[in-house]
Amino acid sequence: MPLTCTGSDPVILSPMKADLVVRGGRIFTAEPSASFIDAVAISGHRIVAVGDEAETAVATSTHVIELDGALATPGFIDAHVHPATSGLDKLRCHFDEADDADSAIEIIATYATANPDRPWIIGAGWPQSWFQNGCPARELLDRVVPDRPALITNTDGHGAWANSKAFEVAGITRATLDPPDGRIERLPDGSPQGTLHEGAIRLVERHAPEDTVDDLEAGLLRGQRELLRYGITGWQDAIVTEKIHEAYLRIAGDGGLIGRVVGAMWWDRNRGLEQIHELVARRERTAERFRPTSVKLMLDGVVENFTASMLESYLDESGQSTGNEGIDFIDPEELNEIVVFLDDHDFQCHFHAIGDRGVRNALDAIEAARKRNGPSGNRHHIAHIQVVHPDDIGRFVALEAIANAQPLWANNDDYQTELTRPFIGEERFRRQYPFRSLLVDGARMGMGSDWGVSTANVMEELHVAVTRIWTDDQEPFGPDEALDPIDALTAFTAGSAYINHAEKDTGSIAAGKLADLAILDRDPLREGSFRETQVAATIVGGEIVYEGK
Ligand SMILES: [Zn+2]
Repeated sequence: MPLTCTGSDPVILSPMKADLVVRGGRIFTAEPSASFIDAVAISGHRIVAVGDEAETAVATSTHVIELDGALATPGFIDAHVHPATSGLDKLRCHFDEADDADSAIEIIATYATANPDRPWIIGAGWPQSWFQNGCPARELLDRVVPDRPALITNTDGHGAWANSKAFEVAGITRATLDPPDGRIERLPDGSPQGTLHEGAIRLVERHAPEDTVDDLEAGLLRGQRELLRYGITGWQDAIVTEKIHEAYLRIAGDGGLIGRVVGAMWWDRNRGLEQIHELVARRERTAERFRPTSVKLMLDGVVENFTASMLESYLDESGQSTGNEGIDFIDPEELNEIVVFLDDHDFQCHFHAIGDRGVRNALDAIEAARKRNGPSGNRHHIAHIQVVHPDDIGRFVALEAIANAQPLWANNDDYQTELTRPFIGEERFRRQYPFRSLLVDGARMGMGSDWGVSTANVMEELHVAVTRIWTDDQEPFGPDEALDPIDALTAFTAGSAYINHAEKDTGSIAAGKLADLAILDRDPLREGSFRETQVAATIVGGEIVYEGK
């Protein structure tokens, strides 16, 4: 810093000259002291000055980014995302250009014709709303892929669509039993209908060629490009398998990893505590910008196929209880033991919990760890938090459990109106995604996209976080739970940085921090909305790594 004090007068010893100065608009800092400043100066990888002092750091050699009234923010940190597999999906059969079942089928037909040598047709990304009851039939797929197996997962990855050839190769008939963690959708005669839910996907998938590390490396590079274009400069990868781990190390080794990443290593629920040895060994395999220090525990499925774990039963179409309360992917007693153990080994637990019993199981397990191990700095966090029982809201702050919100889902889309509302009833419907209640109660919150389940576009997610509306014809979804824009921005920057144990260096704009910033094309807090806003440039460590057209 150029200032030093002698007596009472500050004396400028050497005027600082910055490499890069951003000015000419508002800069959101995510710092408690001042939410907005009007200039930031960067030298090398770090922020060296903010405000007036940054303005005076402009020299002839300084690169100046004039905001022209637009907003700049700390680089966004996506606390739950799957860049390797989602990037890979973009390199395969995907439905970005489709808007209904017919166009999806056409895309599959075109892809199959264009790829005659692929032994399987693998793809992803159809929404359940395109098909009756969310369950596409195998005959539809047979029409365009009759000769080889096809397996195409839906947008959330909790369901998949297979053709007759795939069922044949997997040996699935009317005699095949459902696995304990999933369901084969069936025709009245018991034969497979074409849709597989949750763990049943594996019955087919295990016969398909596995993704190689090369595939995943290509996917991760493609995925990183997608994240950078949305101003995302760091993330928590929500499922790091051994191969994805390897892909990160390779890319980082080649100097190609730009984002700052914490990896959540997959907990194999079909194995026991002995897998801790592998996780401990893998935790040592780090690289610059990649630290696999978290463990992902998948506690339940999703509401739309009745696999989210609920405290009370799902309803049938006439509103009567079905007796089905969903699935606990990990038995709660066993979960307590696992979390006590992981916490004791200084791992962070990253839970997937959708239903109110899933969320409660996660909180109970964290409580068990607190009781047994005392306080820890492991910062366990619960992703998705769709249905939360009111009694559990206050437990987040008490247990230092962090809410990891995917705000885009909190709108009245078809998933909600057609596949959720009738089957969980009004009372539970109304208490979904209680983001504001959690914040008001004092809970910490980070945010993420869950891309490829949803878009990685932070602006679209923030739009729903603050309005609870996606399309303008929608009724707001639980409008009391809408967030103040400053709170939402803070969650997607400083909040997620905290989850990643990265708040000392990232997540906010202050002198001394790493220069990770997103430059927007307008100031959505003053003009238009987040939804209309684009990211104009992304800066990581003082380098411009993405520039919009
Ligand atoms: Zn996910």
